[in-house]
Order: sequence, then structure tokens, then C-alpha cells
Amino acid sequence: MKTSVHTLITSRLKSATLVLVFMAVAASSWWVVNFVPEELTDRMLATDIRLRSEQWKRRVLVQIASGSEAFVNGELSERDISFLTDITSTSDIYRYKLYRADGQVFWSSRASDIGQINTKDYFVNMVATGRVYQKHVDLPMSEIDGMNFHDASMMADMEHAVFEIYEPVMQDGQFVGAIEFYTDVTRLHETFVDRLQTGLFIIATVVLTLLGLFTVITLQSGRWQVNQLKQRALKDRVWRAKEARIAREVKLLGELNEWLQSSRSLTELFDMVSRFMAHILPGIEGTIYVYSNSRDVLDGCASWNGGVHLDHIHPESCWGLRRGRSYVFGLSEVDFTCEHAEPHDQNPYFCFPILAHGEAVGLMHLKAGRMITDDEFQQTRKLAQMCAEQISMAIANVQMRDQLQDQSVRDSLTGLFNRRHLTDSMRKLILRAQKDARPLSVVAVDVDHFKKFNDNHGHDAGDMVLRAVGAALEAACDGDEVACRSGGEEFMLLLPDLSPDEAFERAEALRLAVENITVRYGDKTLPRITISAGLSSYPQHGTMPQDLMRSADDALYAAKGKGRNQVAWANNQPPEPPITEPEMTTPKMADTTETSGIALHGLEPDPFRQGPTAPETDDREAG
Ligand code: GH3
Ligand code: MG
Ligand code: MG
Repeated sequence: MKTSVHTLITSRLKSATLVLVFMAVAASSWWVVNFVPEELTDRMLATDIRLRSEQWKRRVLVQIASGSEAFVNGELSERDISFLTDITSTSDIYRYKLYRADGQVFWSSRASDIGQINTKDYFVNMVATGRVYQKHVDLPMSEIDGMNFHDASMMADMEHAVFEIYEPVMQDGQFVGAIEFYTDVTRLHETFVDRLQTGLFIIATVVLTLLGLFTVITLQSGRWQVNQLKQRALKDRVWRAKEARIAREVKLLGELNEWLQSSRSLTELFDMVSRFMAHILPGIEGTIYVYSNSRDVLDGCASWNGGVHLDHIHPESCWGLRRGRSYVFGLSEVDFTCEHAEPHDQNPYFCFPILAHGEAVGLMHLKAGRMITDDEFQQTRKLAQMCAEQISMAIANVQMRDQLQDQSVRDSLTGLFNRRHLTDSMRKLILRAQKDARPLSVVAVDVDHFKKFNDNHGHDAGDMVLRAVGAALEAACDGDEVACRSGGEEFMLLLPDLSPDEAFERAEALRLAVENITVRYGDKTLPRITISAGLSSYPQHGTMPQDLMRSADDALYAAKGKGRNQVAWANNQPPEPPITEPEMTTPKMADTTETSGIALHGLEPDPFRQGPTAPETDDREAG
């Protein structure tokens, strides 16, 4: 900024100086044209006269029959005199004299001069040594021979510029005489002054024109330079602002990426996305939708800057999802509004499908807010697209992590939790039951005569039945309740917060539900199957996972022993309500917790790994 102001001032000063110089040159030119220096014209005249006198001398010598010899003798013939007399009327000489070497005039166009002797210094020292001498004198008009007084009567006293020139006459290198010429140079002088003035006028005009042009060009180029500087400064400002914006965006994108990578769940991820997007794209309303597991709808997951997400939207309601690429509303003359964007205020918006591994996993919808212009909004498109890509990757990562996690705790045949998860869940639920003195029931389930079923209908049909039983167990669970496949055709249910009676009823309902399952296999309906179940209750049948599971298994085998397709309590009877004395309970619970705590951390051997401990009976084989 400082530089441009300095340059501006310098340029103005330069322009002012140029104008002053131009004016000074114009004034000097005027002066030069009007006051032609006398010395200059004199010199010009002298040079001119010098040349002429040379010619005049030659002409005189040519007119004299004996040439320079006449100067030695001082004699002229009649013919010579006749020719010489004519010279004054046919040249610019108005008088001339012929001198002998001693300075005596032996002939003159003015007869009265004949016989005079010139002993002047210049004659003796200059002319007599062979050099030309000339002098410039101003004489009144009356002194000039042959002047027409009729024309010049008015100016008789006016001084005329006269040149007297002495031309030495040499013969064989010897000075033999001289010729003195008189010529009136008044006219010639005026002509020279005129010529000089004209010449100077032309030169001054050319110089002034060139100077004017130079001034104009310099001023123009100065103005052009100032404009250029201004434009460059503006460009610089815009460029710097753009750079700062890009640096900020890159920084925010980097931070967003780092945070998203560390998110452990989709909920956490969407919280981060909302907070970052509100900063990265201020003034732009945003919402994010993610495909549900069934993939028939997308669930609204997050919104920011005043954006409002719907609970669910259909994939067909978005042009971006339908066309499988970003959709920009407000760019073309003809646009169609996405259904999920209704009611629409005609503000431009983007729909970016969130893609992971080539598959759409969701949608990011961004709409220009009230404080942002359409152009500003359109300029954010690239950045928004980059954000959508980062969010896509993060969602894919979390989903993949969830999927892996799920795979590690789920049984692949039934989709129920596996034995490992069963153990973890039981530890957590026992801790919770201990802490809050809440009940917890464990139900061990086993399909009756399943070996025989497999033998009769094949392993695949058996798998289908196991899946159906798994679905019945899943359906029997609510809230925190956990259904697992503990192995083979054995299952287990963890029922927290239910009284022993409620737990028994739930097991009985499950037994009935399984009894009513019909499974079609190929073109036939498989025979119905039944289950037997055994129930144990915390804390009456144990305060450790292995105790509770062993008790439930014992009860299960008891149910098998009693003829199968029934539910049995551990110890063959419903548990008594636990002792509720607060003074007694609290320390006991604390003790138990502590014991369990130790057991939880170093639970070896794990009762689940050992499997059911009750011996198999003949009765089981018998079915
Ligand atoms: P009980 O009524 O005494 O439980 O008799 P059972 O035949 O069900 O008992 P047993 O433990 O003798 O047999 C269990 C059978 O379960 C053996 C095995 O063929 C079958 N089984 C275990 N896991 C699977 C499985 O994943 N798929 C199929 N189809 N069958 C399985
Ligand atoms: Mg079994
Ligand atoms: Mg069985």
C-alpha cells in the first residue's frame, strides 16, 4: 500500500515537472525565434560574402584582358574599363577598386577614388600578405553608389549594412595588387534573419511537438502505470484473501479428518460433522441422512447452521441419489426440487450422495442460508464436495468397524449374540444387578431330540429350524435383554429387571412360540420342534456367571428328564425373594461386587468354555 502511494506521488511529480519543462522550452523557443542573435547573422553574412567576393574577383580578372598583369602595370585598356564598368550594374557590388601592390587605386567604379593610396594596417599587414580582409560597416543610404533615391528618398538617412572586402591578387605566389568590393547586405541580412527565424520556428515547432507528444505519452503511461499498480494491488489483495481462505479450509479439513478418524460411533461422528461443517461452511444450512439397514429409507442423522433433517426420507425423493451424482439446484434455468427439500424457498442447494466403496451410504444436503449470496454459495461447491468425501470415508470406516465388531459378537447362522458376547453381557448385568439390587434371570434353552431331527430331515433343514428358533428368541427379547446361541442347538437368554415369576412366564411364552413354529423346507413343511428350558435367578442361584449358568443348565436337564418341552426352575422351585435388610445387604453386595470384580478380571476357568457340566442322560438319547 505504502509503495503504491509513493509511486502515485512520484508519478504526479514527474507529470508536473514535464509540463513545466514543456512550458519553459516553449518560452525559450519563442524568445529564440524573436531575438535572433546578431552575431549569428553576421557570421552567416561574412561566410556568404567571402564566397561571393572570391567569385567577383575571378570575374574582374576575367574581364581584364591582361589579367593580374594589369595590377603590376596599373594599366587598363579601354575595353577593360568598359567591361569593368558594367560589373556594378550586373552584380551585387555597388563599388569596387583596383589596387596596385603599393596600395594606390589605379581604377575604381567611382572615379574620385583613383589615385588614392591605402596605407591602413590591415592592407599592409593582411591583404599585402595574400589574406582576405573584410569589414562590416553601417552607412547611410546616401553613401551607397547607384541607389535609386526615388525609391529610397524616405529612407536616405537610414543606415545600411555594408561589407567592404579586400581580395588580394597574386601572380606566381607574389602579391601584385588587390580588389576592394563594396556590397550592400541590408537585404541579404534581412533575408538571413527571415530564414533563420523560419528555420528556428520550424525547429521549435518540431521540438515542441515532440516534447508535447513525449509529455502526453509520459503522462498517459504514468496514469497507465498507476492504474496497473492499482489493479495489481487489488489482485494481490484478492489473491492473499483467497490464499488465507484456502489455508483455513485445508486446516479445518485436516482437523475434521483427524477427528472423524477417531470417532467410535456414528452418533459421535455426526456430532463432530455438525460442529465442523458449521465452521467450514458458515451460513450454509446442512443435513446428513444415512441409509437404514434395510436400505429402503435414509434416516436423518445430523443438521447444522439452521438446517432441519427429517426422520426418514426415501432414496427416490432425492435427485442426487436417483442420478447417482451430485445435484445442484439453482444452476440451470430449469431445475427440479427434491422432495426431501420441500417446502423449498428457491434458495440454491446441493445434494451430495455420500459414497463408500462405490456404494451410496447416505446423503449430504447443503442449502444457501439467508446471509449468503447465490454466487458465494456456488463457490463453496468444491469444498463442500471434499467435505462430503471425507465424511463418506469416515462413515464407511465406522460402519466397517461396527460390522467387524458385530461379526465378532454375532453367530453367523442365527444372527444372535455368540458365547463370547454372552459372557461379557452377563458380567455387566451381574455388576448392574449387584450395584442397584435389581433382579436378573438366566434361561438355558435346548432343542429337544435335535439329533434325531437332523438325522431324519438333514442338516440343512436342521439349520433352518435353528434359524427359526433364533428368531423366536430375538423376538422374545426387550430392551437390555440378551439372546445368544451358546453352541449347537443350545441357546441362552439373559433377562434383567424381571421378577422370577415374570422370567418364568417369558420362558414359557418362548417355549410356546417355538412349539408353534412351522418351517417350510423345499416343498414340504418340517415337523414342529420343541424346546426345554431351565431357569436360574440372581442372587438366589449364584452371584457369579458360571454359577448362574450351571444352575440354569441343571434346571434344563431336569426339564429334559421330566419329559422335555417344558420350563423348569433351578433347584426345582421358584427362588425365594432375596434378603432386603439394608445394613446386611449393602456390605454383602459390596463383598459380592468385590469378589465378582476380581472374578471378572481373572475369570479362569470360564464356565462357558467348559460347557454344560451336567451329564447327558439316556433320556436325551431316547427321544
Ligand atoms: P436332547 O433332547 O436330549 O437335547 O437330544 P438332542 O438330540 O437334541 O441332543 P444331542 O446333544 O445328542 O444332539 C444335539 C444335536 O444337535 C447333535 C447335532 O447333530 C445337532 N447340532 C448341533 N449343532 C448343529 C448345527 O449347527 N446345525 C444342525 N443342523 N445341527 C446341529
Ligand atoms: Mg444339546
Ligand atoms: Mg438337544
